[in-house]
Amino acid sequence: MHELSMAQGIINAVIDTAESNNATEVTEVGIEIGRLAMINPEQLCFMLSVLVENTIVEDADIKIEEIPVEIDCPECGFKGVAELDDKDHYAPIVECPKCGNKRISILNGKDCVVKNIVIEKPDDD
Ligand SMILES: [Zn+2]
Repeated sequence: MHELSMAQGIINAVIDTAESNNATEVTEVGIEIGRLAMINPEQLCFMLSVLVENTIVEDADIKIEEIPVEIDCPECGFKGVAELDDKDHYAPIVECPKCGNKRISILNGKDCVVKNIVIEKPDDD
């Protein structure tokens, strides 16, 4: 499943970063999911909650934020946020909100990234 490999990648990256910073615990993880990343946030959240068990990320507050899709329309020149059909996370239809053109360039919203992590260090307080 797509979400599982994505979740595994996220957790590995978070643990790597935390360990290279001598963290004793990860307290917060901020994740951004583009609406075109083909990721279901609830599924991802569930996978993450399973994968963090018995790791230093176990008690982290995982915050998932969906980011909008930004497009560039070659037909009418519109550049900005496009509305998506909310119902299907896997096959959203993107079109220019101004002229309805579907052959648009996607500028933003295709990625799933770890935006920030907050860690505890042994020396802290
Ligand atoms: Zn257009």
